[in-house]
Amino acid sequence: MEAPPLFRLSSRPAFRASSSCLVWSRSNAAVVVTSIRQLSSSFRDGDFFPGSSKRRARGPVMAAKKEAEGEKQNEGKYKHTLNLPKTGFSMRANSAVREPEIQKLWEENQVMKRVAEKNGAGTFILHDGPPYANGSLHMGHALNKILKDIINRYKLLQDYKVRFVPGWDCHGLPIELKVLQSMDEDARKELTPIKLRKKAAKFARDTVVSQMKSFKRYGVWAEWDKPYLTLAPEYEAAQIEVFGQMALQGYIYRGRKPVHWSPSSRTALAEAELEYPEGHTSRSIYAILKMVQSPPDSSPLLTEFFPNLFLGIWTTTPWTIPANAAVAVNSQLTYAIVEVQPCENESTSRESKLKVGNVLKDESRKLFVVVALELVPTLQSKWGVKLEVKKTFPGSALEKCGYLHPIDGRECPVVIGGDYITTESGTGLVHTAPGHGQEDYITGLKYSLPIISPVDDLGKFTEEAGEFNGLDVLSDGNVAVVKFLDEKLSLVLEESYRHKYPYDWRTKKPTIFRATEQWFASVEGFRQLALDAINEVSWIPQQAQNRITAMTSSRSDWCISRQRTWGVPIPVFYHVTSREPLLNEETISHVKSVISTKGADAWWYMSTEDLLPQKYKHLASEYERGTDTMDVWFDSGSSWAAVLGQTEDLTFPADLYLEGTDQHRGWFQSSLLTSVATRGRAPYSSVVTHGFVLDEKGMKMSKSVGNVVDPENVISGGKSQKDEPGYGADVLRLWVSSVDYTGDVLIGQQILRQMSDIYRKLRGTLRYLLSNLHDWKPEHAVSYEELPKIDKFALYQLENIVNSVKESYETYQFYKIFQIVQRFVIVDLSNFYFDIAKDRLYVGGTEGFTRRSCQTVLAAHLLKLTRILAPILPHLAEDAWQNLPFEYSLSDGSAAKFVFQSKWPNPDDQWLSLPSQDINFWRKILELRSEVNRVLETARAGKLIGSSLEALVHLHADDPATSSKLQELCEAKNDADALTRIFITSQVEILPSPAGSAAVPFEGELAGEDGSKIWVGVSRAVGSKCERCWNYSSKVGSFADHPTLCKRCYDIIEGPLPVVVVADAR
Ligand SMILES: [Zn+2]
Repeated sequence: MEAPPLFRLSSRPAFRASSSCLVWSRSNAAVVVTSIRQLSSSFRDGDFFPGSSKRRARGPVMAAKKEAEGEKQNEGKYKHTLNLPKTGFSMRANSAVREPEIQKLWEENQVMKRVAEKNGAGTFILHDGPPYANGSLHMGHALNKILKDIINRYKLLQDYKVRFVPGWDCHGLPIELKVLQSMDEDARKELTPIKLRKKAAKFARDTVVSQMKSFKRYGVWAEWDKPYLTLAPEYEAAQIEVFGQMALQGYIYRGRKPVHWSPSSRTALAEAELEYPEGHTSRSIYAILKMVQSPPDSSPLLTEFFPNLFLGIWTTTPWTIPANAAVAVNSQLTYAIVEVQPCENESTSRESKLKVGNVLKDESRKLFVVVALELVPTLQSKWGVKLEVKKTFPGSALEKCGYLHPIDGRECPVVIGGDYITTESGTGLVHTAPGHGQEDYITGLKYSLPIISPVDDLGKFTEEAGEFNGLDVLSDGNVAVVKFLDEKLSLVLEESYRHKYPYDWRTKKPTIFRATEQWFASVEGFRQLALDAINEVSWIPQQAQNRITAMTSSRSDWCISRQRTWGVPIPVFYHVTSREPLLNEETISHVKSVISTKGADAWWYMSTEDLLPQKYKHLASEYERGTDTMDVWFDSGSSWAAVLGQTEDLTFPADLYLEGTDQHRGWFQSSLLTSVATRGRAPYSSVVTHGFVLDEKGMKMSKSVGNVVDPENVISGGKSQKDEPGYGADVLRLWVSSVDYTGDVLIGQQILRQMSDIYRKLRGTLRYLLSNLHDWKPEHAVSYEELPKIDKFALYQLENIVNSVKESYETYQFYKIFQIVQRFVIVDLSNFYFDIAKDRLYVGGTEGFTRRSCQTVLAAHLLKLTRILAPILPHLAEDAWQNLPFEYSLSDGSAAKFVFQSKWPNPDDQWLSLPSQDINFWRKILELRSEVNRVLETARAGKLIGSSLEALVHLHADDPATSSKLQELCEAKNDADALTRIFITSQVEILPSPAGSAAVPFEGELAGEDGSKIWVGVSRAVGSKCERCWNYSSKVGSFADHPTLCKRCYDIIEGPLPVVVVADAR
């Protein structure tokens, strides 16, 4: 005997006859022939056994083999009485064809729009963060947009009016550079700002088109026909409006201030445009600055050291020495005057990378230097000299002492700086150049120090720098300053110094700090408002709140002007002679109205007269327009103003922003600042952040390493379909749902293969449900009260799953859904309910109660599972929905033609009302079933049985209550609850005591947590095999007209149909 492939335990081979004196426990028996095996040929059994395809794959193979061996016997005269699965929903996803078909179906029927319009639970607005319209999409984009789509689709099912307007960030330097790089030198000379802007706009729009195509292919639903683009006139006008409101509230100012300046891009940079690559080395120097002899009243304490007294300083940017305006000390530190003396073993104490200044080489010189006391030992060893402490005093004693500028001899003051002056490095005295450093600038404000910045846009010294004029500060300028100091005996030591240094993230070249005339948004002016607004927002994950709070409280004023062409202009006019800016309500309003119709290009092609409002037109000759554009973070940071609140159902604030963690200092923050400054609150109620996508080993993806996973290839396949097969959008989406995105996430071919396997299991589950409901009508449903126990338990499990899944959607923890559903499908359905159900479904009789009750449960599973999976796997869910064998009606009586019209499944609280003792009993039955399967497995290995249907299971429970419950199940009136069906064996009997080993050759035991035990024995089933259902029964042979049938099958074929209780249709 061998495997009936449609039944369980298909690979269990032959047996050894054994039993003799078996106690009777169950139904019928008699003669045998094969049957169902042949019928299975059209259904590859693996297809119907999600989760166990491998184990069962031998079915058809075996069948084919047996057939070849001539074991055909009867062609199956009862074949037509069986109800085998049937559906047009294929096991193969065929996603390359099917997904685009489904997307087309949605688009043609405007499903998203229609569903959203009809929904009645209020609006849900996830405001899209605009990707940059430059280049093709990578896996990070896919993760981001699919997460958004999962949320939007879930909210659609939850009856919300979902509006999702996709956006693109279109201005900025990278696009401007791409345009410039695409032109030769001559063409560039011909280039006017307007020509450049036209080319840049075309480039951005082309990119939008191609990126949009990709997003659509991911199955992302959005208002693709009307996206927001930051280059659109109405967007630019909204941005000017935000700028204007901030300006009128006094939050915008023009100032000379050190900013991060990129000589390579010739522009100021925002903090978000900087990166700090490893391995930057600066030329750091220790220098001494000669103190002047006429200190104010204070300093008899210094008198004795003149004229040989110096301040010791240290800097990593020697080129800023010409801009030196003061030396700052920390009033809380103790300082010392040390006498520099030659060191005995000088040659060994200095490291070779150091270059010693001339001043140390002249050992006859008397030299007294002020340094922080704590640093004396360090400096001693570093300088390779002995430093004898002559006197100590607090930093405050040095305030207002004077020294001579090392280059031009000006007298400069010693000032008190802040906490930034420490003894971690340097000398404890800080060279202060307010034109070249943020802290220096603040200290400079306090003491009214001059802001000197003798450096031009290209990073070269200006005339103001005297003899250094024209030198590049980062190269020969630096060298020249060091050389100059050494010649003037001011250089103690030069050493190369590795540290973090800001680079331009686009050109990958070092930046400088440089004071320029710029426009600023005064973050200081509304910082507290911003911090308060952060507290009102729900941050997911929670630690994000600390991040953005820290970044907002520490950020300096926002430099919003850029000296570039491809952007939105800062709408300001300057007086041609006085350079006084003209910026007020009238000018802003007029420029805004011009731009709203003509676009920002108008700023470049219209006359100043036309750009000025009526009131100022007569002054047109006295004014010229500014040429600065706005920081692109101001563009995207104004998106809430351009998109939200524009129509009634696009409400402000947004319910949700969802982007990568890097946006805490980018878009989340710029949006927060513009919104707080003009609306007094954050533009979002909740913010979800996700990590970065890394390769399978946790490494950053890079083209040079060759570990890049391209979302396009995941969907359609790479160059080699063997190495990179195409999985379709749903497998990509399943991956998105599977990762805990609050940290960095991994993807690679191995992970994708696993995803594809799980996708197949889910697809197989839906296919099982669809194919066994081919003749189902909602009016066939059995009422809940009438359902067998096992069916009630199945519904209890289903309802629990639906609730857990809902909770996970609500908290955006999709990986939990992935885990819950996967386990449910494999353990609860495939390995248990579906496995057992096949007998009822196939041989239970078309109209039989047992079959109809099972279909009632399956229909509930189909309708609920399809919908809870739909946000993650919309194509799969829609494909299943389009193959529904019956119509699903909404509460208003209309049919749900698309899965997203069907709404989230209504709760069925009754299903959860199963008494806890029943739940516990079923859990016990599941454990018992595992033990029974284990014993059956050994019986099969011991050649007692082949198929599990050839077995008789003996049970003995030492706990009387359990024993009687098991007995109850043995005698269950409805066939579904019978233990024989649950174990998929022909017979089960309950014994008063464990049987002897001679009678029952295979045994096992299940020990409960409470100490109770159930003994399990397996022997050969009695009677013969029923031709129709393959169960063994002693009744087989007792019906003259059907000598090969058991009683059950005989009744089904000949007897009256059992009554089906009709319940309300679900
Ligand atoms: Zn039968």
